[in-house]
Amino acid sequence: MPLEKISVVIPVYNEVESLPELLQEVTTVLEGKFDYEIQIIDDGSTDGSFEFAKKKAGENERIEVTRFLRNYGKSAALSVGFRRASGDYVVTMDADLQDDPSEIPGLVEELKKGYDLVSGWKKERKDPASKRLPSRLFNFTTRLLTGIQIHDFNCGLKAYRNSVVKALDIYGGMHRYTPVLAGKRGFRVTEKPVNHRPRKYGVTKFGRERYFRGMFDLLTVLFLSRYTRRPLHLFGVFGLLSLVIGTLVNFWVLYLKYGLGDPFRMHMALLVFGVLLIILGVQFISMGLLGEMIAQSSTRGGEIVQETVSKSSRSS
Ligand code: UDP
Ligand code: MG
Repeated sequence: MPLEKISVVIPVYNEVESLPELLQEVTTVLEGKFDYEIQIIDDGSTDGSFEFAKKKAGENERIEVTRFLRNYGKSAALSVGFRRASGDYVVTMDADLQDDPSEIPGLVEELKKGYDLVSGWKKERKDPASKRLPSRLFNFTTRLLTGIQIHDFNCGLKAYRNSVVKALDIYGGMHRYTPVLAGKRGFRVTEKPVNHRPRKYGVTKFGRERYFRGMFDLLTVLFLSRYTRRPLHLFGVFGLLSLVIGTLVNFWVLYLKYGLGDPFRMHMALLVFGVLLIILGVQFISMGLLGEMIAQSSTRGGEIVQETVSKSSRSS
């Protein structure tokens, strides 16, 4: 039986000191036990990371390097890595040696139990408290809002079946939410505690703004996973509510004038408020309809994940 293939996808942004040890460790873990490839995506490094990786790719046919001409972010790098990955299983890991390559076989083992995505869980994190505490809050909020029950969304070490990464379309800061995007589409998601190590070389590439931006990414992910195929269901509710309340308010103003004889100018604020709500309502509904037109003309992002079983495809 041919060995199963693992694609290791590594986003790299100025990690030149870590790369030699990293590639050494990954090859040692996988050599002989799996068929594998290492997909290095250089996210616009300026410290010679690309030149080093290119040299390694020249020596080892299992290593492939793709280079971005400028820094596009971790999500963009992973997205390209996902598209290039040809293995049965795809494992992502950070380039800074914080993720331990010896965890790769264990994660793949977990996939073989029938899961589609296994997220690493840095149970004992080797990061300063200034990073650990906000991270707990981030994970708690994400769990609460998405219903995906894992402890550590932002772990660089994750394993996917190839079909999962091909179905994902990540950009911006969405790399933190791949378990959500996959889970919402019906893929089976789980987690596994993994060893975590302190950063040995270089510095973190994300500052405190990551948590702030993360909130917007969460909003995007929640919206995309629920309403991409039916935007009017979200906008329509707000629109209709606003329209109905606005109409009632203005009928009330009419009653005050013609029923009770108050002059309009006594209730100007209320009148304006009612008109505002009506305009907002129409706006929301139009936005929902525009969304429906976009949903109608594109299948991207909202594709239906499916699997067909027939006699001919089952027999091998
Ligand atoms: N990274 C990247 N592009 C970026 C920022 C980071 O490819 O714009 C890579 C980085 O080189 C590392 C991984 O993403 O391999 C995680 O980055 P980092 O270790 O700085 O994040 P942290 O561990 O602080 O969450
Ligand atoms: Mg790191």
